[in-house]
Amino acid sequence: MGNKSLIIVLCFLSLILTGCFKWAARAYDKLPNETALNKSYNYKGKVIIVGAGAAGLAAAKVLEQNNIDYLILEATNRYGGRLKKDTSLADFPIDIGAEWIHSAPIVLNKLKGKKGDEIEEELIPYHLEETYTWDGAKYKEVSQFQNNFMYKFMPESKFKNSTWYDFVNENIAVAVKHKIQFNSPVTEINYAGEKVFVKTKNGEVYTADKVLVTVSIGVLKSNYITFIPDLNHEKKKAINAIEFLPGFKLIMKFTDKFYPDAINCKVKSGEKVYYDIAFKKEAQTNILGLLAVGGSAEEYYKFESEEEIVNSAIAELDDIFNGKASETFTGEYVLENWGQHQFTMGTWTKAFQQKKSDLKSLNKSLDRKIYFAGEINDTYQQMGVPGAILSGYYAVDKLLTEE
Ligand SMILES: Cc1cc2nc3c(=O)[nH]c(=O)nc-3n(C[C@H](O)[C@H](O)[C@H](O)COP(=O)(O)OP(=O)(O)OC[C@H]3O[C@@H](n4cnc5c(N)ncnc54)[C@H](O)[C@@H]3O)c2cc1C
Repeated sequence: MGNKSLIIVLCFLSLILTGCFKWAARAYDKLPNETALNKSYNYKGKVIIVGAGAAGLAAAKVLEQNNIDYLILEATNRYGGRLKKDTSLADFPIDIGAEWIHSAPIVLNKLKGKKGDEIEEELIPYHLEETYTWDGAKYKEVSQFQNNFMYKFMPESKFKNSTWYDFVNENIAVAVKHKIQFNSPVTEINYAGEKVFVKTKNGEVYTADKVLVTVSIGVLKSNYITFIPDLNHEKKKAINAIEFLPGFKLIMKFTDKFYPDAINCKVKSGEKVYYDIAFKKEAQTNILGLLAVGGSAEEYYKFESEEEIVNSAIAELDDIFNGKASETFTGEYVLENWGQHQFTMGTWTKAFQQKKSDLKSLNKSLDRKIYFAGEINDTYQQMGVPGAILSGYYAVDKLLTEE
């Protein structure tokens, strides 16, 4: 196809796509007018939340606001789940889990329960200017037209001097963190009787009237938690049907910035991108990220150590940039391997891409005693952190109002 016809096809596609599917606009339409944060509840029972990620913390905030008796059982020694920040590598904080705001910025107000359209957070529009593709042999510049098209179709943003972790910490976690019982992996939830008994790996048993499970779909797939009675066929089918890809994020520090805004690597399956983490930040440090998901991450899992993964990334960058990477690499890096964390077991899911019937089964409570929240239970089609938080508000509202 000649260049002219390609441009015509792209213009046509752009009209269709921006008109029908404009990501943020569509996501904006799906936002609820109000959430459980804006309501009040008079529930007298005891609630246990399993997991202190974005969804669990959000649900807890509603319980805290309404003076409801609750406890959060968290498997690890920290809160945030797939939200985590690093301050050791650069002169700005770096999200080593969720990083981009995929939804319209107004979502931040909804998540905080703030009225109005004015956003307090300083954001960077993620409108890339210099991007390339790399297929293992050819390094090719992407046209500005394509960069503009991508931004128009999927207008994302990032926090300027902050992180997703900070946003959730300041607006949600600070209010509830005193109720988190850390290092308490839940292994069994028994809801056969009137009360629910929740057992942890340490052998402790906690009693509640209702339980909200917010662990990732990867943890549900791993059967780490035994449900008594067992989950029904529909729910198991839905859990198995949802794809939850492995992946990792590697952040590396360099003395010079020799790379563009992003390099999209062509891979057999999954995604792989090198990207400038300091893009439009007021930063002196040069940090390049590598995000590998699905099949491309599994290729790296063949290596035996973190060092080998880092060496392989540096060698690939040397290939592209004639040895510039190893010349300027400071040796400092952080690698977070989400796909192999026992209490995460993957990266993310996009609820709106799944079958509606599966989502319905996942979201259904068990005997009105066990409820489910978390990114995959996002009924507002936001995906990522906003989806997880909104699912927490949505599920806790159901939990507190269903008799
Ligand atoms: C590398 C990466 C990049 C991402 N990028 C983005 C992005 O740019 N933008 C975006 O919006 N989203 C992004 N996401 C997705 C986003 O991080 C998630 O959607 C969101 O954080 C999920 O929150 P959650 O509460 O549903 O689940 P989680 O964060 O997984 O929280 C679940 C919690 O449950 C705990 N837990 C697990 N098992 C047990 C158990 N048995 N007992 C007790 N506790 C348990 C876990 O330790 C964890 O704290 C990214 C994710 C990854 C991994």
